[in-house]
Amino acid sequence: MKKGIHPTYHKVKVVCVSCGNEFESGSTKPEVRVDTCSNCHPFFTGEQKFVQTAGRIDKFLKRAEKAKK
Ligand SMILES: [Zn+2]
Repeated sequence: MKKGIHPTYHKVKVVCVSCGNEFESGSTKPEVRVDTCSNCHPFFTGEQKFVQTAGRIDKFLKRAEKAKK
């Protein structure tokens, strides 16, 4: 590898915001936060669970409504 052009790749602690699960991975960032992980993702748990991150669409619709006026 050419020196000086690659960001340092190191071990990081990945924290899952939804279930609080922590595991190690590799990244160029010092810390990684994820919304869902293999511990709480519906695909692995087999159950449906909706994480409330809504509001963005509502905000957008409100803005669109405002823009019409
Ligand atoms: Zn999780």
